[in-house]
Amino acid sequence: MLQDGFGRRIEYLRLSVTDRCNLRCTYCMPEEAAGGEEPANWLTYDEIERVVRVFSTLGVQRVRLTGGEPLLRKNLSDLARRIAVLPGITDLSLSTNGTHLARQAKALRAAGVTRLNVSLDTLDTTKFAAIAKRDSLAMVMQGLDAAQREGFSLIKINMVMMADTSEDDVDRMVAFCIEHGFVLRLIEVMPVGSAGRSTAMVGLGPIQDRLRSQFGLVDGIVRGAGPARYLVSADRRFQIGFITPISQHFCETCNRVRLSVDGVLYLCLGHEDRVDLRAPLRAGCSDSELEQLIVDGIRHKPFRHHFEEQPARIVRFMSATGG
Ligand code: SAM
Ligand code: SF4
Repeated sequence: MLQDGFGRRIEYLRLSVTDRCNLRCTYCMPEEAAGGEEPANWLTYDEIERVVRVFSTLGVQRVRLTGGEPLLRKNLSDLARRIAVLPGITDLSLSTNGTHLARQAKALRAAGVTRLNVSLDTLDTTKFAAIAKRDSLAMVMQGLDAAQREGFSLIKINMVMMADTSEDDVDRMVAFCIEHGFVLRLIEVMPVGSAGRSTAMVGLGPIQDRLRSQFGLVDGIVRGAGPARYLVSADRRFQIGFITPISQHFCETCNRVRLSVDGVLYLCLGHEDRVDLRAPLRAGCSDSELEQLIVDGIRHKPFRHHFEEQPARIVRFMSATGG
């Protein structure tokens, strides 16, 4: 069992399979981000599978594929299949912007991905293009259609709240999620990288109060809820989560660490504390040496982020760490 120095059990690994993306969401990525061939410092699928296997022997049961945009990594469903069958892994999920989902949903579902988080900040085509710097809303919609047809057990929509997000944007998204049976999650922007800091944080408290009274929502508990606090409709058919890393941080229950595509284990989104796994992997370390590195690193997981007190602290972009 993996436990940090504060007694928190770590059972969730977020696995970034690329730091690249075809979108440029204002709060996440700089316009000038890299492209081209996969660099040699990216972990191969063999290396990733080995690291996840070691994590699973240490009690990690849940893995989320993320990025950057994970669906840009070649043959992602092959990696998904290899992870899904590892003993001890009980939950394999994926975060995506949805633009490449129409073509890949079937293969991913067949490979063992059961749950999807799809980022969608607005249903307005013009606003989408302004936020993501690409006119791709129609592709996301096609991706969501395909995902629904493939029968993923749970599809969540991640919507980041920004100063330009109107009540109408939120209400349209609520109606859309009710219609399609999606779980909606509203997210506060974190000052991660210069992109994160360039977007003003909108606290979710007032929106939560308004939605609670307007839709008659009550407090609820949702499977795989992680850090979100949920409101649900009386018949429980609609669920909305509020991810409030800034206005009400949830660090005391943090159960996760993140592995970047270049093999760096990040212990907290809000700190630079890290363990390099790539160098020992490529130097031929044994599984037990890898285990020891992970166990020792996790003992030093910081207790909490300091996004409010020191917003300029994290220079790496969200897309690099794996959101
Ligand atoms: N490309 C995929 C996507 O958009 O879902 C996966 C990677 S993305 C980094 C994962 C999540 O991080 C998305 O829901 C995105 O909205 C969120 N995110 C990115 N930058 C953020 C920031 N500065 N603050 C809060 N959430 C952020
Ligand atoms: Fe790409 Fe996801 Fe970041 Fe948007 S949030 S730029 S889709 S990685």
